[in-house]
Amino acid sequence: MPPSILLGWFDTHERDLPWRNPDVSAWHILISEIMLQQTPVARVLGPWRDWVHRWPVPSSMAAESAGEVLRAWGKLGYPRRALRLHECAKVLARDHDDQVPDDVEAMLALPGVGDYTARAVACFAFGQPVPVVDTNVRRVIARAVHGREHPGNPSKVDLREADDLAPRTSGGLYSSAAPRFSAALMELGALVCTARNPRCDECPLSACEWVRRGRPAYDGPPRKTQKFTGTDRQVRGLLLDVLRSTTGSVERARLDLAWTADAAQRDRALDSLLVDGLIEITAGDRYCLAGESPLSDRDAERQVKP
Ligand code: SF4
Repeated sequence: MPPSILLGWFDTHERDLPWRNPDVSAWHILISEIMLQQTPVARVLGPWRDWVHRWPVPSSMAAESAGEVLRAWGKLGYPRRALRLHECAKVLARDHDDQVPDDVEAMLALPGVGDYTARAVACFAFGQPVPVVDTNVRRVIARAVHGREHPGNPSKVDLREADDLAPRTSGGLYSSAAPRFSAALMELGALVCTARNPRCDECPLSACEWVRRGRPAYDGPPRKTQKFTGTDRQVRGLLLDVLRSTTGSVERARLDLAWTADAAQRDRALDSLLVDGLIEITAGDRYCLAGESPLSDRDAERQVKP
């Protein structure tokens, strides 16, 4: 895959996404990467703009309750991400001078920051030539390099394969275009080499290995499809909606009304929210978002005033 072809395509087709503005801080790029992990760009744009305006630096988010951050997370889904980001903000404010460190290893020590996120921030915020591999990149490599319609299970090999494609100088060092190449590979998978309907006619790699082989059908293990309707994830979302819509606690009966189809499933979803630390039980068997219980305030006071 000649890097110059992909980079040329990216120069004219790159989406004008606000977190790609050169003035955006690493903290705001970190927020975008956390939000984008499991949520499409179109649904992230609005919340991201609200968040960077409301929480310009980690300490501003750290000063909020976890519940307030969960409330602002709204309908982005998988709300543990918000909780972990709030924990991350506290660590950045306390231990990193309110800055995101520019080192992958240091980032990996932060709450909620995994290998993909650390590499993405290193590459997109700090311009480092580290390979960044998401689902889109894995799919482009599977097709363009291996001639397979879909990639296999994620593995360490993915990073090496992405790294092998990065543009280098004649001396074997990364070229200055390497970080941009990472973004271009990801963009191609997001816009053109999509999972269901790749637009090969518009692709700068139109003679890729999968096309050259006659587009053989996928013959690997069954691919997981994510259902939502009727799942515990949907019920968790409905229960959280009730708590997000109030600033105080609610009676158990109000939560019970959120999902009446299956009481056992509702109980299971409620328990899992408690176990995940997203919600709390407060006095009188009432429920609230994490960090918003008057009881937890009293506990905190007891800790500072023995
Ligand atoms: S030619 Fe088609 S399958 Fe190959 S990389 Fe481009 S969009 Fe993907």
